[in-house]
Amino acid sequence: MTTHTTNDDVEDSPRADHRTRLYNARGIILRRRDLGEADRIVTVYTNEFGKRSLAARGSRKTTSRIAGQLEPFSLVQLFVARTRGLHIISQVQAVEVFQRMRANEVAITVAGMFAELVDWMTPEDQPNSGVFDLLQASLTLLDSDRDPGLITIAFEIGLLRHLGYRPELYRCGVCGNELQPGENGFSLETGVVCLNCRSNAPSVLPITLDALKLLRAIDRGQLSALLDLKINPTVLTEADSILTVYIQRITGKESRARQVFRDLRLQ
Ligand SMILES: [Zn+2]
Repeated sequence: MTTHTTNDDVEDSPRADHRTRLYNARGIILRRRDLGEADRIVTVYTNEFGKRSLAARGSRKTTSRIAGQLEPFSLVQLFVARTRGLHIISQVQAVEVFQRMRANEVAITVAGMFAELVDWMTPEDQPNSGVFDLLQASLTLLDSDRDPGLITIAFEIGLLRHLGYRPELYRCGVCGNELQPGENGFSLETGVVCLNCRSNAPSVLPITLDALKLLRAIDRGQLSALLDLKINPTVLTEADSILTVYIQRITGKESRARQVFRDLRLQ
């Protein structure tokens, strides 16, 4: 994936006035990296512009006023100066820092996983309010002490859908027939495949009816109802494993944060 070092060739919106040097954006901090002695590059998923890398001048100095506001995963309101290179964060106001989530090792690890996936799977400067809303809602759920395993599956299903990678969950991806209960499979290329087709379909994992039902319920937007149920951990683990491999095939990357999350859950 290419790293953009400039924002200035970007058409912000049809209404954008290019003579205006400053603009507002609401975003969630995905990651930060050091730039020179005192500065940082901050990658933000904004509601208005999608993913955008911005310069935070002097943000590594202890006296910096903006440094403390640019914590990873915080929801912030940004005031940004348009320049010929990377646009520069002029002011920042934290809107929501998800304090409870930060105090929970599992929840903060999962937040890192979400930010990583959004960073890996979205191009710069392509707005997608579905992705922004999903990320904000998922962080809000992590901040409310709900089951991170279930939130993770819901986040991943939602992200796949918003980015056009939604796996088929109802009809066989090979013959098109509606799935019957039984030994169905999950192809990493299409989603579910029926008993008759699974031996001929490429890259097929087994999937139980319970795991399929869970994925379908989340896909239908029934997460809030599911959060109040006690879901069998074996089913959660199975659904999670299938999605992990499916997403890995799309990103071509293995997530270190996901490995940490797995290890923490096994403890
Ligand atoms: Zn079939």
